[in-house]
Amino acid sequence: MMLRVVRALPRSRRAIELRSISSHVGHINPPPKILPVPIPRSFPTLSSRSFHSSAPTKTSIFSNAFASSPEDMSLVPPQKPIDWSHSAEDIPRLTQKAIDADRAVLDKVGALDPKDCNFDSVFTTLAYAETEIDAITEPLAFYQNVSTSKELRDASNEAEALVRDYGVESSMRLDVFKAKVAAKENLTKSGEWDKLSSEQQRLVDKMILDGTRAGLALNDAEREKLTGLKKDLSKTCLDFSKNFNEENGVVTFTLEELKGVPSDVVSGYTKRTEDGKDVYDVTYKTPDIFPLFKFAESPVTRQRALEGFESRLSNNVSLLDKALELRREIAKILGYKTWADYITEVKMIKSGDGIKNFLDDLESKLRPVGEKELKILLAMKEKEHKEKGFPFDGNFYIWDYRYYDRKYVEETLDLDDMLVKEYFPVSVVVPTILQIYQDLLGVKFVEIETSTWHPDVQKFAVWEKDAKDESGFVGYCYLDLFPRESKYSHAAVWPLLPGYDLPSGKRSYPTTAMVANLAKPTPEKPALMRHDDVVTFFHEMGHVFHGLLSHTRYARFHGTSVARDFVEAPSQMLENWCWEPKVLEKMSSHYEKKEPLGKDLIDKIIKSRYVNVGLFYLRQLFFAKFDYKVHTDQEKADYTKLWNDMREQVSLVKYKVAAPGQGTFGHITGGYDAGYYGYTYSLVFAADMYATVFKADPLDPGRGSLYRKEILLPGGSREELDSLKEFLGRAPNSEAFLKELFGDVSPSSNL
Ligand SMILES: [Zn+2]
Repeated sequence: MMLRVVRALPRSRRAIELRSISSHVGHINPPPKILPVPIPRSFPTLSSRSFHSSAPTKTSIFSNAFASSPEDMSLVPPQKPIDWSHSAEDIPRLTQKAIDADRAVLDKVGALDPKDCNFDSVFTTLAYAETEIDAITEPLAFYQNVSTSKELRDASNEAEALVRDYGVESSMRLDVFKAKVAAKENLTKSGEWDKLSSEQQRLVDKMILDGTRAGLALNDAEREKLTGLKKDLSKTCLDFSKNFNEENGVVTFTLEELKGVPSDVVSGYTKRTEDGKDVYDVTYKTPDIFPLFKFAESPVTRQRALEGFESRLSNNVSLLDKALELRREIAKILGYKTWADYITEVKMIKSGDGIKNFLDDLESKLRPVGEKELKILLAMKEKEHKEKGFPFDGNFYIWDYRYYDRKYVEETLDLDDMLVKEYFPVSVVVPTILQIYQDLLGVKFVEIETSTWHPDVQKFAVWEKDAKDESGFVGYCYLDLFPRESKYSHAAVWPLLPGYDLPSGKRSYPTTAMVANLAKPTPEKPALMRHDDVVTFFHEMGHVFHGLLSHTRYARFHGTSVARDFVEAPSQMLENWCWEPKVLEKMSSHYEKKEPLGKDLIDKIIKSRYVNVGLFYLRQLFFAKFDYKVHTDQEKADYTKLWNDMREQVSLVKYKVAAPGQGTFGHITGGYDAGYYGYTYSLVFAADMYATVFKADPLDPGRGSLYRKEILLPGGSREELDSLKEFLGRAPNSEAFLKELFGDVSPSSNL
């Protein structure tokens, strides 16, 4: 699915979706279809619904784990939970009302005499206005993902579109921008600037940056030109995504050519007769084509399928050329050397050069490992080709990669996913994970009675562990964990309300919701989770706690409102718990035997994590390097050639026909432009944080408290690098990441 990113209001709360690619290592992904990075708040609804008709799966799995003690019962939260009683008519009405109120505030700020522009009249006013509109519209926009009522979902979706359009309007308010600039000037001249806290100074700088990045500091003619280019770019990217959604090509094979592909997969292909022969049409959709890449024995079949797959969106080639040209022009007008510099200005990595250094450094270290793995796979290929009488030219091609990777995993690992699953009943895993988090971070979940959007939802008031009165309140948390019709079909966390300090000094408390689709029970077995699902749940809970345990003055900096190339790092770090023998033992219990996972299975699970990891990351680096290069080159190039040559150089797999695979690289128009490096970048910090602080004792509350203080609490109120330095006691580096993947490496790094 392609994701279109439209940032509405110049702020950064967003649903946090999915987890890192790391845990898929060994299973080999396609270029991710679902992008494991955060989605801006104004993101349109994801439409795929993979679950149909289900009896409500209300479970009482928490009833024992979270029974309230008498003293908990006396704790009364100082803030009411969100009211979820909206009707379909309420949603557009309340949204419009919030928009009108915000516009009135902007009008007032925009009309200020420059001499009256100061911190309070401009920045405080704007900060609370944006918090206000979000607090109202965010829960309303959430219904589309979870409501069982189509009316409500549609209203929610439309309301979100209203907010998005308004976001575009408000981000282009020249009068407001002028007020901000005047206020900053007054602050500097009067010396008031030095009296502001660092978070306040950051608020000022970020708010002004919103305006300059939108082009509000340009003259009228330039601004007009910019607006035209941006519209053109947005349309071009939309067309690119549209082609993705409408792509319906097939590649055709006989049954003999499909030898090796599992019969249940083949039976899903469309069978027809051509020239008196039975043939099968294989679509380019993942469930059809990927089993072919992984299992088809004939290299000729795999080659033809792969070349078709890479060429399936050749109609996107000219659109990509155009998008890149427009980006070059936009960057130039806005005064950036390259599009990558423009994009990274608000990221942790800060510059296009930063991306280059990061990728080059990592590539040089990964290459020897990838080459070693390739040698093994190539030897497997040679052996098989000799046995089967296929010609062997000594090369390892892109269509060999998934096939031999799969064979290697099968031959060396002997890990039975289905058996592992029996040790992870939902009723054990979920409460255990919540307990681990509570102990680690010093909080307690108290289940509460309050109505929400669905009876399945588990509702919690979250308190400091030793809370005696309302001062120990942390916020609210909803867990909507089980599949049902028309529900958001992946796992994601919504920061529904941010935390922030009210002008009175009192606190407004956060609310987060996790929406997931954990397994359902069958008549024979209780709901069981794959290890992969366990990792996902642990990861998502990491986002939940980021959203709960942050404490910033302004909502704009709350919790997960950090730079996008950092936001996944905390949750990626937390995934490590699911690969620790001690923790695996603790969170597993065979559904019949009631025994935890044994050493043998635990060893196999852990071993599976890093199989063929060098080639996997080299492939990731290829995508990242292509993305970087096309967003830094000053001139148009032959991107088909670049795509194929670069893949050969970086990910070490050869090609025969240069197919226009860049047309299939959805990230580049889907909101991750000059951002692909971020997947690996945040993993480096995740690994460093884990190895440096937690590895020695991942369940130690002392370490948990340091994590709360230095990573979760500051949210985006300071530079992410500063948070990391405080947490690690030094600047971060890539040693832990590399060591984790490959054992010891030379101790140089270049972050
Ligand atoms: Zn995530």
